[in-house]
Amino acid sequence: MLNKSPSQQFGFYFFIVKQVPLSAVWHQVGTCKFGLDPQTTVLDLNCRTHDVENLYVVDGSFFPSMGAVNPTLTIIANALRVSDRLKNNYES
Ligand SMILES: Cc1cc2nc3c(=O)[nH]c(=O)nc-3n(C[C@H](O)[C@H](O)[C@H](O)COP(=O)(O)OP(=O)(O)OC[C@H]3O[C@@H](n4cnc5c(N)ncnc54)[C@H](O)[C@@H]3O)c2cc1C
Repeated sequence: MLNKSPSQQFGFYFFIVKQVPLSAVWHQVGTCKFGLDPQTTVLDLNCRTHDVENLYVVDGSFFPSMGAVNPTLTIIANALRVSDRLKNNYES
């Protein structure tokens, strides 16, 4: 039982939420959030700006909101995803 993850033990994940002041925020994200609607988002789902055809943003700003855990690995994974797509588009 002790070797099992929370989702295996309980069937769901849970997170403890604590409000912190702005001065303590280390994970600022969302200033160029991605999404389908150009009226409410800066980037499309492949992190290309809705307005400029060859401008991509692959830092932490693409998140629509901050998750419950540290963001860096997701930022890196997303940058690799987008760069693979750019490479494939460039080669074809
Ligand atoms: C104290 C602290 C602890 C953290 N600990 C963790 C952790 O343990 N795990 C985790 O996952 N995340 C952690 N984070 C969050 C993580 O560091 C950030 O979410 C992540 O680095 C954001 O990556 P980014 O590429 O969006 O921006 P950044 O890493 O901030 O990169 C932006 C880069 O752009 C450069 N730049 C800015 N302006 C210009 C300009 N005009 N011209 C050229 N270059 C420019 C900057 O110098 C910088 O190198 C921590 C953050 C802080 C502040």
